[in-house]
Amino acid sequence: MTTAVVVGSGPNGLAAAIELARAGIDVHVIEGADKIGGGTRSSEYIVDGLVHDDCSAFHPTALASPYFKELDREFGLAEHGLTWRWPEIDLVHPLDDGTAGVLWRDINRTAEGLGVDGKRWLDVFGYLAENFDELVQDVFQPIVHVPKHPLMLARFGTGALLPATGFARMFKTPQARALFGGVAAHMFGTLTLPLSSAVGSMLTAGAHAHGWPVAQGGSGSIAAALASILRSLGGTIETGNWVTNYSQIADYDIVMLDIAPDAAGRLLDGRQPDRIARAYRKFRYGTAAYKVDYAVRGDSDGSVVPWTNPHARKAGTLHLSGTISETAAVERQTVRGQMPDKPFILLGQQFLADPSRSVGDIHPVWAYAHVPHGYPGDATDVVTRQIERFAPGFRERIVGVHVRNVPQMQEYNPNYVGGDISAGANTARQIIARPRFGLDPYATGAPGVYLCSSATPPGGGVHGMGGFNAARAALKARG
Ligand SMILES: Cc1cc2nc3c(=O)[nH]c(=O)nc-3n(C[C@H](O)[C@H](O)[C@H](O)COP(=O)(O)OP(=O)(O)OC[C@H]3O[C@@H](n4cnc5c(N)ncnc54)[C@H](O)[C@@H]3O)c2cc1C
Repeated sequence: MTTAVVVGSGPNGLAAAIELARAGIDVHVIEGADKIGGGTRSSEYIVDGLVHDDCSAFHPTALASPYFKELDREFGLAEHGLTWRWPEIDLVHPLDDGTAGVLWRDINRTAEGLGVDGKRWLDVFGYLAENFDELVQDVFQPIVHVPKHPLMLARFGTGALLPATGFARMFKTPQARALFGGVAAHMFGTLTLPLSSAVGSMLTAGAHAHGWPVAQGGSGSIAAALASILRSLGGTIETGNWVTNYSQIADYDIVMLDIAPDAAGRLLDGRQPDRIARAYRKFRYGTAAYKVDYAVRGDSDGSVVPWTNPHARKAGTLHLSGTISETAAVERQTVRGQMPDKPFILLGQQFLADPSRSVGDIHPVWAYAHVPHGYPGDATDVVTRQIERFAPGFRERIVGVHVRNVPQMQEYNPNYVGGDISAGANTARQIIARPRFGLDPYATGAPGVYLCSSATPPGGGVHGMGGFNAARAALKARG
């Protein structure tokens, strides 16, 4: 029987493992950490029973993923413990004057709230949202492929080529511009460069197509469901075993590496053709995430975080970075290695969609700041101040805090090189060539060994498509 080993149990590793097991291969997953899941783990850091997402929180890419859909059809994700929950409002981007850009899953409702920009918002995102699942079939593939929907891809590509700041100029109001700018900032990069609107366009269209849902019980339910499907197919998983030497995996017919290219290069030392080994060494890592989880006591008026903007009190996700000019400026600073006073903050109120994560009147609030690559400092107070800016009085409601700074982020998961949670900077070059140019970007050049992490197409996010595509490449190569 053909055997395969998957190094790393993130969503891409587990997706690769399932796909190989479905093909009748004997699959074993080796995870270095004590808990499976990589970027899809949850923990009770501060108060027993209070559930925080260690990493991923909102999952438009999982809902849109052709692979997750296929797993749902074949195995029933809910039967394996994965149920999605939606907040009333998906996203709010508050401004200093108390107004906000408000994104509802319903695009018409969003357009109504955006006033003079409403029609333009519908024109720009309506078509992409309606056809999002078809678009994803192309965008979640390596760049070199025969498109399934060429006209739609061309329409998406025309906007995606623009810098995010240029794209936002299609809108007139500071609210609509800020709203798009905050979503675009998910790329962790310079918003004035070409192609920097691609991530923002995808995630905005995805929000209108599927919303930004959370996993019931915490993102750990995603990993648990994938692991349960894998085990039902006979696959096995071990934890607490870091793979640092090729001899640990040499006996398997197929090797899937859910790891970053720098680690893959070290593991495969001497086994890759020079040009691929060089490409792995040249692969660049981007700016970092500084994570702060809060336990927050709710008020008797029902509010948890005392946001000035009333919509913010109902939002699953908030982007805290002011106007689009301010967002672009702080993102540029972090790329240049400077720590901003008021960095871009992504904040999650998952408990609104999934109240099972709270304990009585104590609720988990999830946040991370964009900070420079490898930032060694303490940014906890900076994060709290930025929340206070839009929610005066927040500090008094904090019961406890758990911090994962940048060095701890890389220690927690070696794929986050220098704190880069996308396992590779989203530069224009690396959006196109991830981790290198080639017809099969998953092949490492070492016989039977494939890279399947988010350093491969389609990049970061919980969608399993890197793992699925890599597994298909491996199966194809074996005929
Ligand atoms: C703070 C934060 C917030 C995020 N928010 C979101 C979000 O809201 N929505 C979203 O879609 N995505 C989000 N992401 C990104 C998402 O989590 C990742 O893109 C996704 O998990 C990548 O999956 P992966 O399988 O490629 O790698 P990972 O999930 O990183 O998994 C890799 C696994 O490999 C293991 N490993 C590494 N090296 C070795 C080794 N040598 N031996 C054995 N095991 C090894 C690691 O321990 C890890 O478990 C977030 C990430 C972070 C950190």
